[in-house]
Parts: sequence; C-alpha cells; structure tokens
Amino acid sequence: MTIDVHPDAPAYQPAFTEDEDAFRELLRDFLDREVEPVYATLATDSETRHALFRKAGDAGLLGTTVPEEYGGMGATPIFNMIISHELAKSHAYGTVGSLFCTDLATGLLVDGGTPELINEWAPKIIAGEAIQCMAATEADAGSDVLAIRTTAKRDGDNYVLSGAKTFITNGDVADIIYVVARTAPERRGRSLSMFLVDGASAGITRRKLRTMGFPLGNTAELYFDDVVVPAGHLLGGEGGAMRLLMGALAYDRLQISARALGQAELAFQLTLEHVRQRQMFGQTLGDYQVTQFAMAEMKTEIEVGRTMLEDIVRKVRSGISSEQQAAMAKLWVCEMSGRVLDRCMQLFGGMGFMDESPISRIYTSNRVLRVYGGTSETMKQAIARAL
Ligand SMILES: Cc1cc2nc3c(=O)[nH]c(=O)nc-3n(C[C@H](O)[C@H](O)[C@H](O)COP(=O)(O)OP(=O)(O)OC[C@H]3O[C@@H](n4cnc5c(N)ncnc54)[C@H](O)[C@@H]3O)c2cc1C
Repeated sequence: MTIDVHPDAPAYQPAFTEDEDAFRELLRDFLDREVEPVYATLATDSETRHALFRKAGDAGLLGTTVPEEYGGMGATPIFNMIISHELAKSHAYGTVGSLFCTDLATGLLVDGGTPELINEWAPKIIAGEAIQCMAATEADAGSDVLAIRTTAKRDGDNYVLSGAKTFITNGDVADIIYVVARTAPERRGRSLSMFLVDGASAGITRRKLRTMGFPLGNTAELYFDDVVVPAGHLLGGEGGAMRLLMGALAYDRLQISARALGQAELAFQLTLEHVRQRQMFGQTLGDYQVTQFAMAEMKTEIEVGRTMLEDIVRKVRSGISSEQQAAMAKLWVCEMSGRVLDRCMQLFGGMGFMDESPISRIYTSNRVLRVYGGTSETMKQAIARAL
C-alpha cells in the first residue's frame, strides 16, 4: 500500500529506542547461549538457579531499574517488559517459568527502602547473588488482599513475623522475600505493611509446589514462624504496603502482558511451521482454507496485542501510563494469548497433547497468565473502578 506522505508528517517512531533494542539483542543472545540449550534438564535447586542468575548478572541483565547512584542502570520498567517478552518467546519459558521476570520486585526496595538497605541489597540483586520474590498471597487471601493474616508485631528494634504465604514465584530459592504482613487488625489497606525479609533468617521453612505448567519452575509455599526482622527492613513505613504494591503491580501487569504476547508469538510460529509440513488427504494442513483463516485471525489478534503494548510503552516513556491501561492490557492480551494457544493446540492434533511437544508446555504454562498478577475478573474490577 502506498500513499502520498505529507511533507510535514512526523517520521514514524518505533516504540523501542536503540538502547532498548540493543538490550533485547543482548538478552536474546544470553537466552540462546545459556538457557535454551539446557532448559529441559535444568535443575530446580537453589545452587543451579543461583549459577544461572549470576551469569545473567554478569551479562548485565539484572536489576536494570536500580538507580545509577546505587550501581544500577536506572532504566525504565520498559526493560522489564523486554525481559518478559523475550523470555516468553523462548522455548525455555514454558518449562522453567519466570526466572528473571521477578526483577520488578526491585521497585519495592528502591521505592520503599532506606538508602542503607538499598546499598546493602541492590549490588547483590544486580550481580545475581540475591534472587528475589514477592510474597503477598495466602491460602485465604488472593484476590482479597485485605484478608491477609500473616502478622508482624513490633518488638523493640524488630518486628516478629508469623504466618504462611502460598504460590510464590521463586519462593523456594529466593534470598530476599518481600512479605506483606498485617501490622494492625482493621480490614483496611493501611493495616498492611511490607518487609524485606532475609531468606536466611531463622524460622522460615519452604515447600516447593508442583504446578500444571512450568514443570521446572520454582513456585513455593513459605512459612514464617516468629521470624525476627529488623525494623529498618520495613519498606514504605508502617501501613505502606498497598501504596508500594499498587505501583509495582501496574508494571507487573505490563510484564505479564508482554509475556502473554511472547507466548502467543512463539506458539503461532511453531504452528505455522507445523501446518506447512503436516500432510493429510494429499495436501498440507495449511492448504485448507479453514486453517488459513484460523492463522489469519490469530496473526491479526497478535498484531492488535502488540500494537496495544507498544502504545503503552510509548506512554510509559512519556510518563502518562495509568493503572487502568495496565489492567486493560493484562486483561486483553492475556485473554487473547489464551485464545491463540487453544487454537494452536487444536492444529497440532494429538501431538499437541504430548509433554515432549513444546506447544503442550506453552499451553499449560499460558493458563496462569489469566490468574496471577490479578485475575481477569480483578482486572475488570480495576478498569470499572476508574470509569
Ligand atoms: C504459578 C503462580 C505464581 C504466583 N506467583 C505469585 C507471587 O510471586 N507472589 C504472590 O504474592 N502471589 C503469587 N501468585 C498468586 C496469584 O496472584 C493469585 O493466585 C491470584 O491473585 C488469585 O488469587 P487466588 O488464587 O486466591 O484466587 P481467588 O481470589 O480465590 O479467585 C478465585 C476466582 O474468584 C474470582 N473473583 C475474585 N474476586 C471476585 C469478585 N469480586 N467477583 C467475582 N469473582 C471474583 C477470581 O477472578 C477467580 O476466578 C501466583 C499464582 C500462581 C498460580
């Protein structure tokens, strides 16, 4: 399609800057070299995960949003979206799970921690020596965050934490656990506080959970039995958890949307290759118009998702992104990704159901995108609230 371009028309601006494109290349190279060849046999133990994180640290991929005065790159959260997108486009993701995507937890430390605390932990995060996790969810408090029961009681210069958290990504290997705990009994946001808990503290026990997707992932349950936390590890002041969480969650939702887009793109590519070579009734599966229409519809949906996220990237860069936009992106792109994965699975026939086929692992790991980081229904509530 050609149209006459008006002489004063602004040049088309790509969503990503040259620096961001270079970072994407670096990341892609790292995934191709260090993760893709080994992911299927990668152990889930702490030592193996730390070795991988240290390599990622050496490659300059971690703690990108840490401000320069603390030794970081001072990058925007767009870098975390790029990490999420590229990781989800790798074959490894459906098997090993989020890995470096929990880097967004760094924002909790940077926004809520004292300079001493940031100076103590940020270098370890950047070097890949400290893996982070964020522990809000409990067995009876998921969407209903205000139902959290884990308590933090002040005791002199310390707080004492008691309770249990569940479904925590990287929970069984994390060195830093950001724990949301109740510091006042009332059912309101100001009753919840955020603590940076050293994973080596006495009184913490962990149980790895088996999950439908991510067979080599690190989802875990955590128990806190009178864990002593220095008062200086309180982030954002007493009652400050919700404020910190709201900021972090908006970006987490964009990361998850980027992950959903990456998975849809990978599944589409695998399916395109499959329908081009799968023979049936004397022609390929891709020769049938019904298949071509399915592929055309999926390609269009993916393009709509990509356009939506690129628009948000531009808004994040201009400082005009909103929680409502993040919720809309998570709702739409994750639902779209689920639709695409379901159709791709169908086009693979029985092979799609086999554990050994990549599409099967993408399919099972994709399902959680509509649940974690806030369910699709919670996203609708957030969008409606802002109307
Ligand atoms: C693999 C995995 C990794 C995770 N990682 C982390 C992590 O690192 N840190 C962390 O803190 N949490 C984590 N989670 C937890 C996740 O954020 C929660 O599972 C999610 O928020 C939903 O909470 P829930 O499981 O308690 O479901 P529930 O809250 O019990 O929801 C059940 C159903 O009720 C619906 N519902 C909720 N509210 C309403 C309403 N008002 N009206 C109608 N329907 C409603 C929900 O949409 C859902 O369909 C993870 C979960 C998984 C599965």
